[in-house]
Amino acid sequence: MNKGKVIIFSAPSGSGKTTIVKHLLSINNNLAFSVSATTREARPGEVNGKDYYFLTKSDFLKHIQNNDFVEYEEVYPGTYYGTLRSEVERIWALGKVVIFDVDVVGGLNLKRIMGNRALAVFVKPPSISILQNRLKTRATETDLDLENRINKAVSELQFEPKFDAVLINDQLNETFEHAQQLLQLFLNTTP
Ligand code: ADP
Ligand code: 5GP
Repeated sequence: MNKGKVIIFSAPSGSGKTTIVKHLLSINNNLAFSVSATTREARPGEVNGKDYYFLTKSDFLKHIQNNDFVEYEEVYPGTYYGTLRSEVERIWALGKVVIFDVDVVGGLNLKRIMGNRALAVFVKPPSISILQNRLKTRATETDLDLENRINKAVSELQFEPKFDAVLINDQLNETFEHAQQLLQLFLNTTP
């Protein structure tokens, strides 16, 4: 198996990483999204195998026992997320660069595991109150989930210095341009 490069986007929930990752995928044919496994419910419009592999908790636990994950985490109490080895290998076998959308701890774990094959980007909201507004507008969480996500965001912001690059997501068009620049610079460098 020829191992390729990986680019990791991590951020507190609501910072905009999914928006950025989808944009980069739409303009770069040599990137492919690492579809994570999760035990959370699918949101309206989410497709199994495209946005996530939606698994039952017992199937997820079986994958843990089989050592099928590159990394996994209980990102929110009772809700698991993880990157399957088979997913990364599938993308490398296509000769493509893997793009990850994972939480901050998962991103740092992947950076450690992937070494110099990885560029780890921390996506930062302009402020916590803007983050809160964006999450409310997205309207995908219950009030309790929203509170959990905001509390987790505050602690996750401390991890910014451990990443290779920081992308402040204020004006979306500027963010897209900056993300594309970071990506090109990374792809143009060896190995
Ligand atoms: P994450 O994947 O980090 O949880 P999302 O990409 O789902 O975040 O973005 C959270 C919400 O904020 C979405 O509704 C998205 O459309 C919106 N959003 C993302 N970036 C911006 C931005 N720069 N300005 C305004 N709204 C944004
Ligand atoms: P959401 O429920 O909003 O899709 O995702 C919640 C959080 O889990 C986000 O920060 C998302 O990036 C993260 N996440 C998604 N997939 C994975 C994964 O495979 N591993 C880890 N560690 N986090 C993930």
